[in-house]
Amino acid sequence: MDLHTAVMYLKGVGPHRAAALETKGITTVEDLLYYPPFRYEDRGNLKPIGELAPGEMATVVAEIASARVQRVTRSGLRIFEVRARDSSRHTLLCKWFRGDYLAGILTGGQRAAFYGKIEYDNYSGDLSMVHPEFEILSGADDPEAALHLGRIVPIYEAAGKISARQIRTLVDRALAQVDLSRDPLPERVRAALALPPRDQAVPEAHFPPPGSDLRALNAWRTPAQVRLVFEEFFYLECGLALKRRNARAVEGIAFELKDSARQKIRAMLPFKPTGAQKRVLKEIAGDMSRPHPMHRLLQGDVGSGKTIVALEAAVIALENGYQAAIMAPTEILATQHYLYSRRILDQAGYVVGLLTGSLSAREKDKLRQLIVEGIIHVAVGTHALIEGQVEFHNLGLVIIDEQHRFGVMQRLKLLQKGKTPDVLVMTATPIPRTLALTLYGDLDVSVIDELPPGRRPIETRHFTEDQIELVWSFARLQVEAGRQAYVVYPVIEESETRAIKAAEKMHAQLQQVVFRSFTVGLLHGRLAASEKDAIMQDFKAGRIQILVATTVIEVGVDVPNATVMVIEQAESFGLAQLHQLRGRVGRGADQSYCLLVTGRGTEAARERIRTLRDTTDGFRIAEMDLRLRGPGEFFGTRQSGLPAFRVANLLRDREVLEMARAEAVRFVENPPSVEELRALVGYIRDSWQRRYGLVLVG
Ligand code: ADP
Ligand code: MG
Repeated sequence: MDLHTAVMYLKGVGPHRAAALETKGITTVEDLLYYPPFRYEDRGNLKPIGELAPGEMATVVAEIASARVQRVTRSGLRIFEVRARDSSRHTLLCKWFRGDYLAGILTGGQRAAFYGKIEYDNYSGDLSMVHPEFEILSGADDPEAALHLGRIVPIYEAAGKISARQIRTLVDRALAQVDLSRDPLPERVRAALALPPRDQAVPEAHFPPPGSDLRALNAWRTPAQVRLVFEEFFYLECGLALKRRNARAVEGIAFELKDSARQKIRAMLPFKPTGAQKRVLKEIAGDMSRPHPMHRLLQGDVGSGKTIVALEAAVIALENGYQAAIMAPTEILATQHYLYSRRILDQAGYVVGLLTGSLSAREKDKLRQLIVEGIIHVAVGTHALIEGQVEFHNLGLVIIDEQHRFGVMQRLKLLQKGKTPDVLVMTATPIPRTLALTLYGDLDVSVIDELPPGRRPIETRHFTEDQIELVWSFARLQVEAGRQAYVVYPVIEESETRAIKAAEKMHAQLQQVVFRSFTVGLLHGRLAASEKDAIMQDFKAGRIQILVATTVIEVGVDVPNATVMVIEQAESFGLAQLHQLRGRVGRGADQSYCLLVTGRGTEAARERIRTLRDTTDGFRIAEMDLRLRGPGEFFGTRQSGLPAFRVANLLRDREVLEMARAEAVRFVENPPSVEELRALVGYIRDSWQRRYGLVLVG
């Protein structure tokens, strides 16, 4: 039996249990050994019941004296009650509301461990626990009793019908049968950080040695635990470092930084670039002039002016006789980029084309033809741009906007379109460093950290639904003054239809009652692309004054005359998303306002609203969003491409990530020997690359 053996071959695991384990991602013995406990319980020196005090969290091991459905409350609620006694002869009362299902599971005479918060029971005067976690312990003659008692024990999340206790037994069995002595973590790295070897770390993470610090264990900070977290981050960061190193070794286009490009750029700029824009352009131009493909992430808060920088980069490619592609996640955004690019690039004599999914087959064919012949210099599009048939004449630069909305695979596909084009990805979602390191660790990063001059901070105010009239009258004042307004409704995944209905109803009401003398438009995801375009154009041109929309306008939409953003049911949006929506206003010289309208909402929702009201710094908002919602939800999309960590936790383990990153870079750039580097590449390829969606070449 080794680490790759299917867990089914472990004694005590048959097909049924194997299936249950699989729901937790456990298919091999290795998976089982890297299935971390979520908590540890000290059953070594247990306090007797008599020494416990209300308010503390405690584990009690005691014998069940009685167990039954005890009382039916007036409302018909049945309570399952267990009275348990330990050697101190004191009684602990455990209660489960709606606990009928426990009859026959917990019975008199059993010994069991209960974990929960100690309370004082008013009825009986006993100490009690409400809905404790419990584990039935078998008699002292059980050969495995020592595993579950008299020590610090690991508590696992149950896998289907397999209880924490059963998992503990399986882990113990696996540990006894598998040889962990070959440590894949390079000796130099392990020694530098004084990390325990694998055959010590894995067993100790499950069964901590006597005297271990329970607090450190539950914070996942013992040397054994840290080593497992480190390991997971280290291979990911090595993979990313290898990717970067390989990319740098690949031959790419060395664009010449010509005077003609400089002149054209100067001539086409409608404003003076900010210092930050100048700096990042320099970084980008530097990459482009090198004979290797650029892989750069351009981060900048909403409205910081990324688009113009991207177009400047495009001009460098164009002046060298290459084509550029600009890819956006939605049709609205692609169209907007197209119009903006045309406005800027037409005067310089460049041809811009737009390729989206809504074109007819004939139109698409024609555009593809123009692209492959090189007549179109800049191709703007949605993912239609990367669909199989599109070929370029000579693609030199790929610009990907709002990159996190594209899967990693899509990013790769577009790259294969040119030989080895330079790649610039842009995002307006400020990405907390921990996520940037894991998700974009293979990219170089430029940040625009300065807004164009003359912007006034957006004023954000919070209203409850019953104050909606205030919101409308405020919006009306702004519209009467010549400004424009957005009114946004959330689309909650399953109920797009409902959201659209709500938006339609609101549209009708706003048009007929509130804004009778103005034109109110309606924009949502179900409209045909041409309708969407027409509405956006009307709004841009000021023919529509108030735009009611679902979140289709979330990213990129740029109408400087719009100064009011009303967000309905703001409690149902994530922070980053609210920040994006707010970024649709405040893009011109006029004072702009974001009015958040909420129902009651949860405390977490209120916290989000407060955060948004009190800060405009996208990076701080992003950090907060990450903390409130966790990494998986951060981007609001499952396809974020974020690796699924087994042991590591991005919020808890940021310092370990930084450490792993530094060691990985050092190791890849300066390996102890060629053999060790080769061994590492092989190990990552065999064991980690599929799990982390890494693609290593060579
Ligand atoms: P984002 O970074 O959100 O994509 P955009 O590129 O859409 O921002 O720019 C937002 C607005 O600011 C646009 O109307 C753009 O023309 C304008 N803008 C960009 N840079 C400057 C600048 N240096 N001075 C004045 N206006 C600018
Ligand atoms: Mg943009």
